Amino acid sequence: MNNILFNADVAVIGAGTMGIGIAQVAAQAGHCVFVYDIAPDAGQKALTALSARLNKRVAAGKADASATAELLARIVPVTTLQALRSCSLVIEAVAERLEIKQSLFCELEAVCSVETVFASNTSSLSITAIASALKHPQRMAGLHFFNPAPLMKLVEIVRGLETAPEVLAALRALALHWDKKPVLCCSTPGFIVNRVARPFYAETLRALEEQIDTPATLDAVLRDAGGFAMGPLQLTDLIGQDVNYAVTESVFRAFYFDTRFQPSLVQQELVLAGHLGRKNGRGFYRYDEGSPVVEATFAPAQTMPLPQQIVLHGDWSSLPGLAQLLSKNASTVMNSGPTSPYACMDKVTFMLSNGKSATRIAAETGNPVVLFDLSVDYANASAIAIGVARQNEERHNAAVIALLQSLGKQVIVLPDYPGLLTLRTVAMLCNEALDVVNKNIASAADTDTAMCYGVNYPLGPLAWGERLGWQTLLQVMDNLNEFYGEPRYRPMPLLRQLAAGFTPADFSLSTGDRAA
Ligand code: NAD
Repeated sequence: MNNILFNADVAVIGAGTMGIGIAQVAAQAGHCVFVYDIAPDAGQKALTALSARLNKRVAAGKADASATAELLARIVPVTTLQALRSCSLVIEAVAERLEIKQSLFCELEAVCSVETVFASNTSSLSITAIASALKHPQRMAGLHFFNPAPLMKLVEIVRGLETAPEVLAALRALALHWDKKPVLCCSTPGFIVNRVARPFYAETLRALEEQIDTPATLDAVLRDAGGFAMGPLQLTDLIGQDVNYAVTESVFRAFYFDTRFQPSLVQQELVLAGHLGRKNGRGFYRYDEGSPVVEATFAPAQTMPLPQQIVLHGDWSSLPGLAQLLSKNASTVMNSGPTSPYACMDKVTFMLSNGKSATRIAAETGNPVVLFDLSVDYANASAIAIGVARQNEERHNAAVIALLQSLGKQVIVLPDYPGLLTLRTVAMLCNEALDVVNKNIASAADTDTAMCYGVNYPLGPLAWGERLGWQTLLQVMDNLNEFYGEPRYRPMPLLRQLAAGFTPADFSLSTGDRAA
């Protein structure tokens, strides 16, 4: 029965950031929660701090006084492992060291019933390795919460090599009962989120290393034009450069130094300098008092006349809102058809990047070319990023910029960078997500759900890939691969199969399953 843990007494081991958050989640759902920490007063201290936080909400009229008092009364700090005897579920959130976790669970095996489910909140250790120390490794799974646990919906339920299917089913049902979004995955480095998210940081760090633009402008491309909640550099400042760099390094090592996970020297420099981000006042940006806010660079307002005629060719449904936006211009003609979308603006070809530089496309076609970057929602984005061919005359670029500005967009003119920035980032995220699916680490639907709820992406990478079209995505990856000649940009086998029209029977995406 999947609901066997619904009335369980729950043990939480480790009363740090994650432990007390998980205890709050379980107590909120009505469980009696015993909190144990190796530091004898840590449980009580964490409970006192939680109580102060929750009572502040009561005082502000944001929470009910008696429900809060009852919730707090259900969390009981204990100072011995023996006190956890009655618990049917143990969730461990102690220091991230394999030998500590292994010896803790061995001690717990001597205390708890053989039916007790053991779960670890580890972010980077192998569940298979932790469970290997147990007499009954089948009872052990990962239950990976995100910080802050009471707010973040995602929980990755991680299957070790020996984990029993009933244990996974019971944890999944429990997570749903706790109003979380559970996803199932195998015990592999980074699980889903910490693996698939690597290119989000890596592509912008690379662009910075390649002198493409300033941190503020690169962040604006992904945030204001692309539709991500935060720019990658801004986000690493929030996470902590040391923490983000350590995750990348650990995934890189765990994948036997596959260069697609290679850490960035630009980020390493920040770590070495001690510029760790918000927590110590300086990272890619400065946070100390009086530091000026650094703005992105947008194109200055153009006074150039707009293009006299715009003809939209092909099917624009993969670029939501853009054709409608361009159609606001009186001179626009729709010439829809089944081909890839592109616009002719007088003589200029205006199209989504395909992973080649604008200069190369202009050389191939003989026309002036302006490429635009990807956005999750062109209609509502405040900005649009473009790259222009070197052969273009200044008036060609100015007319396109003037048009985009007339449609209410700020325009970011990037250097002629293959794949621009949001497109290459989304292509890489999708490529990685397809590898996860192809290797049966997680289903396609769970992979997208994980990225929407774990790191708040505006659309799952696979849903985004499907919207763009697999052939388009493959073309972007092939072109980036050719440009760089590095295995980092190699298209994954499943991408090639999808682009060739072969869809595995169990490949289904969660429709509309996005974070709020
Ligand atoms: P933390 O340092 O805030 O807390 C760890 C607590 O564990 C401390 O109170 C410590 O005294 C206690 N502890 C250490 N060894 C112990 C032992 N042998 N027995 C009992 N208690 C012990 O750490 P945290 O950030 O809460 O992380 C805990 C776990 O959760 C780690 O495995 C980490 O990888 C994982 N995790 C952390 C985050 C995060 O953002 N902080 C997110 C997801 C997962």
